Amino acid sequence: MFKKSEIFDVIIIGGGINGAGIARDIAGNGLSVLLLEKDDLAQATSSASTKLIHGGLRYLEYFEFGLVRKALKEREVLLNLAPHIIRPMDFILPHVPSMRPEWMIRMGLFLYDNLGGRKYLGKSRKINLSGEIKGEYKKGYIYQDCWVDDARLVILNAVDAKNNGAVIKVRSNCTNIIAKENLWEVFVNNDDECGYKSRLLINAAGPWVRDIIDDNNLSDKNTPKVRLVKGSHIIVPAIYEGDYSYIFQQEDGRVVFAIPYEKEFTMIGTTDIEFSGNVDDVSIDEFEIDYLCSAVNKFFDEQIDKEKIVHNFSGVRPLFDDEKGDASSVTRDYHIECSDYKNLRIISVFGGKITTYRKLAEEVAEHVGDSLNMKMKKWTANAPLTGGEGGYSKWNEYKKLIIDKYNYLSEDILERMLCQYGKNAEEIIKKRGKLYKCGKIYEGEVRYLIKNEWARSLDDILWRRTKLGLFIKEDELEEIKKDFNIF
Ligand SMILES: Cc1cc2nc3c(=O)[nH]c(=O)nc-3n(C[C@H](O)[C@H](O)[C@H](O)COP(=O)(O)OP(=O)(O)OC[C@H]3O[C@@H](n4cnc5c(N)ncnc54)[C@H](O)[C@@H]3O)c2cc1C
Repeated sequence: MFKKSEIFDVIIIGGGINGAGIARDIAGNGLSVLLLEKDDLAQATSSASTKLIHGGLRYLEYFEFGLVRKALKEREVLLNLAPHIIRPMDFILPHVPSMRPEWMIRMGLFLYDNLGGRKYLGKSRKINLSGEIKGEYKKGYIYQDCWVDDARLVILNAVDAKNNGAVIKVRSNCTNIIAKENLWEVFVNNDDECGYKSRLLINAAGPWVRDIIDDNNLSDKNTPKVRLVKGSHIIVPAIYEGDYSYIFQQEDGRVVFAIPYEKEFTMIGTTDIEFSGNVDDVSIDEFEIDYLCSAVNKFFDEQIDKEKIVHNFSGVRPLFDDEKGDASSVTRDYHIECSDYKNLRIISVFGGKITTYRKLAEEVAEHVGDSLNMKMKKWTANAPLTGGEGGYSKWNEYKKLIIDKYNYLSEDILERMLCQYGKNAEEIIKKRGKLYKCGKIYEGEVRYLIKNEWARSLDDILWRRTKLGLFIKEDELEEIKKDFNIF
C-alpha cells in the first residue's frame, strides 16, 4: 500500500498502451511510478485499433522507411514476448491493376521482406486467387504480419508494471496539475484537497495530450500540435472461411482490412477521418458504415450492409501534427516532447503505434534517466510479458499440453483462456468454480480479472479483458452481476 503523501519519481497520466508500456519500463528500472487512468485501462484508442503488429506496407508510399523498419523489427520482438496474445497472420493483397502497378507492389513487398529482418515470419509471394474472391481479381500476393489483442497488451504491460512495483489507479481522472515546492502535484476526480506528488510527470493521455497541457497552462510556443484522426471498424458474421486476412486497395488510394475475428466473425476497417469533436464521445457514422461495407463488397460475392453489423468500435489517432495535407498521409511515427515548467520536467507523448510502443517506452525511459540523473537500462526486449514465458517457439506445444491435460473441459474455453492469459491460464482453470449459464466463462475468471487486472465493470470484462461481449446476451449476465456486485 502507498500513502497519498508518498513522493513518486514519476506520475504517468494515461493507461493506454503508451502509458502502460512506459510504466513497465521505468518501474523495471527501479523508479517509483504511479499511473493514473481516468476510465479503464485501454478504454480509448488502444482497444480500438486494427490490432496489427505491422510494419505498415502503405507507409512505404509516404517514404516512411525509418518508421517501417523500426515497426517491422518490433513484430518478432513482441511475438516472442507475448505469443499468447500475438500471432503471425497471413495477409492476401489482391492485385487491382487500376490502383497500383505490379512492379510497385513487388518492390514494396521486397522492401517489406527485407527492411526489418525475419526469423519466424514468412516471405511474401505471388498467388493465384481464382475462385477465392470475385472473378476479376485473379492474382495477388501473400505476406505475413502479426495480429495482437490490443487491449490485453495494455493490461499485461500494466500487470508487469505492478509486478515491478508501480501503482496503477483506474477511474482516476487528472483534473488539475500544479507545480509546487519543486514537485508536481496531480489532483484527481476534482478532489482539490490533496494530490499525488512526483518529481517528473509523463503525459501519455493519447488524444487528450494537448488537453492536459492546455487545461493546466503548461504550453509554450514550441508545444507540438496533435492531429486527431478518427478510425472505425465494423464486425459482421464471418464473410469468408480461413484464418488469413485480406488487404483491399480502395479507389481513394487507401487500404481496408478484412480480418478473421473471434473465430465466428470478420472485422473490417478502417477509416481515416479528420476529427474535431469531443474525444470522449467518438462513434461510427453512416458514411463510415457505407464506406467499409462497399470496400469489401467489391471483392466478395457475399454482400454486407448495416443490418449485418453485430458490433462496431471507433477510436481517435492522436497523431503528431507534421502539417501534412490529408489525414492518411500524416506520420504515424511518435514524437516525444520534453519541456520544463518552473524547473520541473514534463514529458509528453504524441502519436505512435501499438507496434512501436516498446521502443517509445525505451526512449521515454532514457529521457527520464537524463532528467532525474539516473542510469536506465534497456531491459524489455528480452523480458516476456506475463503469461508469455517460454517465447513463441514453445507456445503451440504448451497450448496443446494444457488442452490435453484438461480435455474434460470445453476446448473453446480453454483455447480462449490460453490466448488471453498464456501461462497464467492454468491458475484460473484450477480455481475456476462454477461455469455461468452462458457456458462461456467461469466464476474464477471473473474473480481473477477483478483481483488482478483492475476490472471494475461488466464492460471492462466483456470488451477489454475478453471479447465475450460478442457472445453473451444481456439477460445471461444477471448471475455475474449478483455474484460480484458489478454492473
Ligand atoms: C482506427 C485505428 C486503427 C489503428 N490501428 C493500429 C494498428 O493496427 N497497429 C498499430 O500499431 N497501431 C494502430 N493504431 C494506433 C494505436 O492504436 C495508437 O497509436 C495507440 O493506441 C495510442 O495509444 P496511447 O496510449 O497514446 O493512447 P490511448 O490508448 O488513447 O490512451 C490514452 C489514455 O489516457 C487516458 N486519459 C486521458 N486524459 C486523462 C486524464 N485527464 N486523466 C487520466 N487519464 C487520462 C485515456 O482515458 C486513455 O485511456 C490505430 C489507431 C486507430 C485509431
